[in-house]
Amino acid sequence: MPLNVWNGHKPLKPFIVPVFIPHAGCPHRCVFCNQTAITRGSLDLPSSERLRTHIDRFLAYGMPHRRPAQISFYGGNFLGLPPSRIEFLLGEAAEFIHTGRAESLRFSTRPDTIDRHSLDLLTPFPVTDIELGVQSMADTVLARSRRGHTAENTRQAVSLLQERGFRIGLQMMIGLPGDDMDTAAETGRRIAALRPDFVRIYPTVVLRGSPLARWYRSGRYHPWSLDETVSVAADLYDLFSGQGIPVIRMGLQADADLQPGAALLAGPYHPAFGHLVHGRRFLHAAMDLIQTHALGRSEVSIEVHPRNESNMRGNRNRNIEILKDRFHIKTVKMIRNIGIPDSEIHLLSGSFRYRGRLGDHRERFKPAQPDTAQGGYYVGQQHL
Ligand code: SF4
Repeated sequence: MPLNVWNGHKPLKPFIVPVFIPHAGCPHRCVFCNQTAITRGSLDLPSSERLRTHIDRFLAYGMPHRRPAQISFYGGNFLGLPPSRIEFLLGEAAEFIHTGRAESLRFSTRPDTIDRHSLDLLTPFPVTDIELGVQSMADTVLARSRRGHTAENTRQAVSLLQERGFRIGLQMMIGLPGDDMDTAAETGRRIAALRPDFVRIYPTVVLRGSPLARWYRSGRYHPWSLDETVSVAADLYDLFSGQGIPVIRMGLQADADLQPGAALLAGPYHPAFGHLVHGRRFLHAAMDLIQTHALGRSEVSIEVHPRNESNMRGNRNRNIEILKDRFHIKTVKMIRNIGIPDSEIHLLSGSFRYRGRLGDHRERFKPAQPDTAQGGYYVGQQHL
């Protein structure tokens, strides 16, 4: 049984010490991937000295936070490495745990690397969390993305990890080759049914040097728009959070390398992708309340918890403008109220107060038709 730094209490967000091992252990190149472009790492595994210096530096930085430190291997297929390399990396990192400077280890790996033999290798080491690059639960999408594994591999991997008591993170991508609203929704539902401890949602972007870049240039692949990616991510977030599954990351880490013209060739990248997604969730909830209770009103007031004001307003107040345009409202007044739960917005219209819960608002992933009159947004009971 792996160490559990959480002890059954509310988990304390760990201080992550990231160790990037780009493409280490990868059996081949998945079409969307170019880890060296997004991590700027070398393809060599770190030496003992380099690894220790790197971890030392991060821990020195993290010490004042007094959070449990977790050394995390990212950017490759960890259990695809030869056993001696796995033992070397975990052994070096475990030294920091034995000396009390960090609490646990974590890595990401492909679902098809999980079997009883590979998990036996981990027994001597304090690994608590394992993240699987699931990407999609649609076999057609996995095949077209050249992942080389199936949804059934993911199901079996999760079952084995649960048997051994690991905390499990599942990563999914939106907009892979062959993906659409239905396969993205099905992926979300099937991932939620596996009961992971947390998930990450990533948009598919076209990175220079990836096979997808060639497909994009030849017209074989068209990235999703930012707007539809944000809409689907908003529905996925509601799906997961509605079932008590934390979404710990949405979107790629903001990085100068991911600006257009650098590593990023095309696709729905935005440095504040998560903020856009939360903004869309609040907009959906406000639209439903207004549609149901305040049609024809020229003035409405919306109450949210102060920490959600920017989510309700959206990027550059865009949500408020959309509500005004869509419902012919002259004034949308924002009221900050610490009594409103995070998961709710309240609509004040005339002398009435209406309560809306985020995520309760619509049929999930209903295929939407673009409404060109609304500048590409979707209206009514469809995606916005
Ligand atoms: S997605 Fe994962 S397995 Fe595929 S090439 Fe990238 S790091 Fe390797």
